[in-house]
Amino acid sequence: MYAERLRETLPEVRASIRRACDRAGRDPDDVTLVAVTKSHPFEAIRAALDAGLTDLGENRVGELEDKVEHFGHPEGVRWHMIGSIQSRKASRLPGVADLVQSVGRLKVGRKLAAAADHESPVSVLAQVNTSGEDAKGGFEGDRVVEGILELAEFDELRVEGLMTMAPFVDDEAVLRRTFRRLRETLEDVRHHRPQVGDTLSMGMTNDVGIAVEEGSTMVRIGTALFGERPGYEPE
Ligand SMILES: *Cc1c(COP(=O)(O)O)cnc(C)c1O
Repeated sequence: MYAERLRETLPEVRASIRRACDRAGRDPDDVTLVAVTKSHPFEAIRAALDAGLTDLGENRVGELEDKVEHFGHPEGVRWHMIGSIQSRKASRLPGVADLVQSVGRLKVGRKLAAAADHESPVSVLAQVNTSGEDAKGGFEGDRVVEGILELAEFDELRVEGLMTMAPFVDDEAVLRRTFRRLRETLEDVRHHRPQVGDTLSMGMTNDVGIAVEEGSTMVRIGTALFGERPGYEPE
């Protein structure tokens, strides 16, 4: 069922990314598609891998562990942690997640750093709360840039860029402003610390086109690929 669905949805999603790139004069190869498989069963991941998707996004530590245990780390595949992280679970992520996108607090960064293998730093994105909604995690307020720069001080972390979730609205101007603000925040951070990477993870099913027009280099798409989420049950 998932394989069949992806045969239809994956070309559509790729086309919408391509169209947004055309509008913005960008190269579609500069936008990584993360397939958000959270809440979907193993079958969805099997289908995604068979369809050539290489980046998989999960939002719960336990579910991510289950899935990584089942599928391992096939060559070229990256597992992304995109959900909010309780600091007591952060130490389980190094070696499981290839990119931890949702580091929104220094405390979580500290736990990840402490659990990192000395030979391989943990790749992370700093999550920014651009909407100010309490339910969305991330660095926020006046000291966003300072906080991210502090995160980048940990030798055991490699900050590859920033991630945000836009507010859940249809107002295009609000979305555009949100994404633009994330891009400017990254410019500011990199101005102070050029070692920070240039990944801008922004754009989901409802706002992917605008995010790409505003410079996203990584979109996280669940619903448009896999349909409504059923609720995951360990297999
Ligand atoms: C669930 C989720 C997504 C995917 O959302 P869709 O609207 O289904 O595309 C992207 N990013 C994060 C952080 C999520 O939790």
